[in-house]
Amino acid sequence: MTHEEKIAAILDRFPFVFPANPNTGNRPSIGVGPGWLPIVAECAGAMQSFVAKALFLVRGKNGETKLVSPPQPSIELVRQKLGTCRFLLGTETWTDDGIAECDPVALHDAALRCHDQVEGMIFFAEYLTSITCETCGRPGNLVSRKGFLATRCPECAKKENFGSIDSNKH
Ligand SMILES: [Zn+2]
Repeated sequence: MTHEEKIAAILDRFPFVFPANPNTGNRPSIGVGPGWLPIVAECAGAMQSFVAKALFLVRGKNGETKLVSPPQPSIELVRQKLGTCRFLLGTETWTDDGIAECDPVALHDAALRCHDQVEGMIFFAEYLTSITCETCGRPGNLVSRKGFLATRCPECAKKENFGSIDSNKH
């Protein structure tokens, strides 16, 4: 499987997390190396599992408490920046029919709580990429090549001419 095919497989597996742009039909871009693709896939998997399994208590219009599924999060772009992976979040869309009976203010509050949880997943995925070689997926560290920061294992760093951050400070 080529790198492009692996990326296409992730997009295919999580179509709600990676929706096509409704105007252009383009799917989100995952512009990172092969070593990080499993982390990107697991992050999308965690988001999809969150929507499928989590339930939020929201005050209903009639005063009763409603249980609703979280809004569907989406990712618009995945790329490397300053050595680690960054995820650009897109819109979070409510798909639960039950929200029609929810108090709008309480629903807004629930959306913020859901957003915090999604941010936590993103934070954890970004953290994992800071200790994982982007080239091969083995444990890695932040390294540098002429000011370009990356996360690489010692072997890939050597092959790709990256040096430790300290030795590049001149
Ligand atoms: Zn490596």
